[in-house]
Amino acid sequence: MTKNNTENKRNPVGVKISFLGAAQEVTGSNYLIECSSDARSGQAMKLLVDCGLFQGSKISEDKNNEPFVYDPKSIKALIVTHAHLDHIGRIPKLVHDGFKGKIISTFPTKDLSEIMLLDSLGVLEKEAKRSGKKLVYDEKDVHQAMSQWQAVDYSENFTVGDFKITLKDAGHILGSAMVEMIYSSTSSGQKKIVFSGDLGNPLTPLLPDPQPIKDADYLIIESTYGDREHEGRGGSSLKLERVIEDTVKKHGVLMIPAFSLERTQKILFEINNLVENDRIARIPIFLDSPLAIKATSVYKKYQKYFNQEAKEIIRGGDDLFNFPGLKMTLSTEESMAINNAPEPKIIIAGSGMSNGGRIIHHERRYLGSSKNTLLIVSYQVAGSLGRRLEEGAKTVNIFGDIIPVSARIENILGFSCHPDTNELYDFVKETSDTVKKVFVTHGEMKSALFLTQKLRDNLCVNAVCPKFGDSYVLNF
Ligand SMILES: [Zn+2]
Repeated sequence: MTKNNTENKRNPVGVKISFLGAAQEVTGSNYLIECSSDARSGQAMKLLVDCGLFQGSKISEDKNNEPFVYDPKSIKALIVTHAHLDHIGRIPKLVHDGFKGKIISTFPTKDLSEIMLLDSLGVLEKEAKRSGKKLVYDEKDVHQAMSQWQAVDYSENFTVGDFKITLKDAGHILGSAMVEMIYSSTSSGQKKIVFSGDLGNPLTPLLPDPQPIKDADYLIIESTYGDREHEGRGGSSLKLERVIEDTVKKHGVLMIPAFSLERTQKILFEINNLVENDRIARIPIFLDSPLAIKATSVYKKYQKYFNQEAKEIIRGGDDLFNFPGLKMTLSTEESMAINNAPEPKIIIAGSGMSNGGRIIHHERRYLGSSKNTLLIVSYQVAGSLGRRLEEGAKTVNIFGDIIPVSARIENILGFSCHPDTNELYDFVKETSDTVKKVFVTHGEMKSALFLTQKLRDNLCVNAVCPKFGDSYVLNF
């Protein structure tokens, strides 16, 4: 710990929060909550919210191998907000290092986490081999973690030590949750601490908007797009329709690099609408990602968590993720056979930033022709192939081949799964009359500091932007 900010030095009994990841950066989410007086046991109690991987240009940064700053054996429980790797990727290591407590999340998060953790093993193994570093976790650790995992529903109360905890729908990906923790003390009554986790973008389809939070005393909020504004949903759908029409006209190939969780399902949802309403011609559409295919089957299993619009379409008899022309290609042979399919055609494949996965093979084959289009639908990190293409590279190196880029590069960021600066501001505003402090996390420094200042200036709330290792004792 680098710092210890004591809000109330007179009160030795209280709750302390330490920021051990996603502090002035977007990955590695890990928050330690320590309670100095567990009324049940009379002992100090520790719990965690999220335990994610640090990720940069690689899926796993070297610092993931460093020991935890706390003793995993001393942790009573881990609450998981959602199944993205930067929120769950170090859970198997936590278990390997001695954590014996319960892991608690929603049902979809549990299912999706198991798929994500097992699927990532292949890439982690390759990276570990290349760098000569230790593997962050192995398959045995994942199975051990799953045996400690317990699922609860949204709004179902459960207790950990002195905390009464409820998960609320964050609308970010299927199963994503905010963690609402109520702490009761004899001296000051009840206090509410809320971790936003990653929040959803209300302008995108499929999932409900994030549930509003009221009466929070302390709020820990993400700031991925703390300094940016998104384009509206109508604009994004229309642009997608135009890009597909253009591909049909030119008899070309439309490549869409997409993250397997949520982005792929949102794109399928939009294309399903266009196909079912006869707004685009019926052409072959390939979902060429085993991980996205597995994740989509979890989405189908938990349709009760979709928003009203999606549920009504399902009630009308439509399968949101299946439509004429769609083919899911699980095996390598099926994937390679896409080359033989007639054009025009659409290929949706991982990875979302073209830094791995099957999309690269298609890019190598199709970027060289002006008939074709690459459609970028997510944030592209610096150093990735996707970022170079987004920035207009004339040639790119793929597997040692220099490929000229003649294909059109298009960009739609309105399908983002995070709220923009205005939506984040409105979210905090709902609870601004009660909140004593807002901790702005999960954003690059510029983005996090921008939102922090905006909240201070316009809402007059006490907002801070913690650094890695900062701890705060909450004023109860
Ligand atoms: Zn996320």
